[in-house]
Amino acid sequence: AGQRKFFVGGNFKMNGSVKMIKSIVDELNKGAFDGSNADIVVAPPAIYLLGVKDSLKQPVEVAAQNCFTESSGAFTGEISPNQLKDADIHWVILGHSERRSLFGDTDKLVADKTKAAIAAGLSVIACIGESLEEREKGVTNQVVERQLEAIAAAIQPDDWKKIVIAYEPVWAIGTGKVATVQQAQDTHADIRKWLAKRISPEAADSIRIIYGGSVNGKNSSELAQAADIDGFLVGGASLKPEFIDICKVKK
Ligand code: PEP
Repeated sequence: AGQRKFFVGGNFKMNGSVKMIKSIVDELNKGAFDGSNADIVVAPPAIYLLGVKDSLKQPVEVAAQNCFTESSGAFTGEISPNQLKDADIHWVILGHSERRSLFGDTDKLVADKTKAAIAAGLSVIACIGESLEEREKGVTNQVVERQLEAIAAAIQPDDWKKIVIAYEPVWAIGTGKVATVQQAQDTHADIRKWLAKRISPEAADSIRIIYGGSVNGKNSSELAQAADIDGFLVGGASLKPEFIDICKVKK
């Protein structure tokens, strides 16, 4: 991962309860992270965001799982990036494959949300990744580049400093089917090449590209060795004690 600081995100998705999330926070607080090895950010469902933020010990931070493009107004059910910022929440996950496939988040909408989030002062975990059909057709690079190009067209080159790219092959999310180290490394390296060409060599060097898709306490150490894997976005395992091990995988 070069000079880039390791990054581990935990995406709780629509899971948990007041009681369960309190116990996860208690475990994280016992994790005794000193913040030197990795940035750690957890994303509980929106209703629990403020409670988790207030009870989590530093250096662990919180992220929203989504936000809208507008700062306020008649958008029932949505949360604005400005409201997240106002609530002292610094991160938002955008473009998760579940948002893309179930809730109509197109490349353009994800790009517009990314632009709005950065304008509000947030940092973004921008998720991209191909479906199984796309991988089998051999168009993985075209798909992730199309998703990234939509974002690049909406933001300024300097805004990439506020982005962590999460490469999450859809076929590996929640399936127990983790990408091989080679598959993940190859795509991460291609993304980095694209960044060098489309944004700048400096951006390519400094942007963290994290892997997501059935990461767990067992497979994380091998994946973490790869040159272009700068961390993880963890779904299922972020609800379990092994999440602490994943956060500590980079010594
Ligand atoms: C995710 O939701 O971003 C994810 C990678 O899920 P899982 O780890 O459960 O595959």
